[in-house]
Amino acid sequence: METFDLIVIGAGPGGYPAAIKAAKLGLKTAIIESREAGGTCLNRGCIPTKAMIHAAEVLESAKTGERFGILADNVRYDYGKILDYKNEVSAGLRQGVEQLLAANGVTVIKGLASIEKDKTVTVASGEERTCYGAEKILIATGSKPLVLPIEGMDLPGVMTSDDVFQMQDVPESMIIIGGGVISVEFATVFQALGAKVTIVEALPRILPGMDKEISQNLKMILKKRGVEIYTGAFVQKVEREGDGFACIFTEKEKEHRISADALLSAVGRAANTDGLLGEGTTLNIERGRILVDEEFRTSMDGVYAIGDVIPGIQLAHSASAQGIYVAERLAGKEPEVNLSIIPGCVYTSPEIAGVGITEEEAKEKGISVEIGKVMMSANGKSLISKEERGFIKILADAETKEIIGAQMMCARATDMIGEFVTAMANHMTAEDMRKGMRAHPTYNEAIGEALEEMAGGAIHVM
Ligand code: FAD
Repeated sequence: METFDLIVIGAGPGGYPAAIKAAKLGLKTAIIESREAGGTCLNRGCIPTKAMIHAAEVLESAKTGERFGILADNVRYDYGKILDYKNEVSAGLRQGVEQLLAANGVTVIKGLASIEKDKTVTVASGEERTCYGAEKILIATGSKPLVLPIEGMDLPGVMTSDDVFQMQDVPESMIIIGGGVISVEFATVFQALGAKVTIVEALPRILPGMDKEISQNLKMILKKRGVEIYTGAFVQKVEREGDGFACIFTEKEKEHRISADALLSAVGRAANTDGLLGEGTTLNIERGRILVDEEFRTSMDGVYAIGDVIPGIQLAHSASAQGIYVAERLAGKEPEVNLSIIPGCVYTSPEIAGVGITEEEAKEKGISVEIGKVMMSANGKSLISKEERGFIKILADAETKEIIGAQMMCARATDMIGEFVTAMANHMTAEDMRKGMRAHPTYNEAIGEALEEMAGGAIHVM
């Protein structure tokens, strides 16, 4: 039986960086993957959605180019080519991951892994079963779409986010159950491609985890574009109706029945532990997710878990940071990353990004904060690109002056949030952040302005 210092199970954004880091640090490492390298993120998540969002944005710019003196008549799209482009991006990145694993000497094993007693892992590939030994095992098996136990949700044709990518045409109308990040991103794409989209969300607002002002603004923007949104709406049943679907839900005790050609369920993700445990092996699992301590140790000696399969936020960068953290620890290194400062991004138009505490959370927790907020309407770059909608809001602890949160809704918010992640990871105050100047004209000049506002007054605000 071949043995390794570390066997990683799952080659998503949690597993593959962990394997590469471990190999770079001298550990004999293998990675086992049952599907494609890159996991949900590269194949059915972050990357394909952002490629489709990018295509939708290009379409929108072409249609609205007249604002910049660009005249393009008869702007259309070819959905098949959008899918080809999306697949090409995913394939390129997937190939990159495979090459990186090989270049770093990681042994890649294809098949479904299950953990047996005595730190052995069995890999099933077709009829073949192979056993491998490991000093340490890292579970990075990720997640899969959650299907709510509601009548009709298992009807053929009801889609999850995995299935949407298989759709060969844009439907005329689409109902999306759930109003979280995945929902509003798909709503943005399909609305731009001409579908009539309706979102049905059980909680009182869409993007329930984000800043309230942001979710209210996004609701308004999406509605203005023609997306119908029901919040506080509880789905009772899904039925087939002709070639499409009907969704029956109650909202403020009133029953609604809406119909559409397509129905997408985007109600969250369930941890992927199918077939992971061999006979006689157990792990502490709660609500389907593998429980770990602060060092990502599971209840089984020598077995660690990271990413979507454990409790906590399910994001690619968080999974990657956790994976690298575990690899460094196993190689005897002291990791430097702060795993609790996790940016959250939504790739709508305008983009949304947040990190740390929101204004409402500060109020709820009785934390006294100083807030610096500016609208993007006075930012030169935003006016140039006619993307002047939105704002940047920065929160500092009123006592220590440390930055404890930032929320933004504006062009390039998902890139700019990095400034605050670095600031928070280094316990910087607003004053520390003000020490650096920002290039002109850029969107992130508005960060400088929000910091000035916090210090007593932004320059470009009357
Ligand atoms: P995964 O990426 O799920 O990878 C797990 C891998 O393990 C899979 O390849 C699977 O095949 C393999 N596996 C499972 N069980 C076994 C087994 N027993 N043996 C062998 N292999 C196994 N996150 C962001 O940060 N930004 C975004 O913009 C973003 N957009 C998203 C959009 C959508 C539509 C979706 C669905 C998700 C999105 N996410 C985004 C979330 C992100 O994709 C996940 O948080 C991330 O992929 C989790 O990484 P992971 O490595 O834990 O798991």
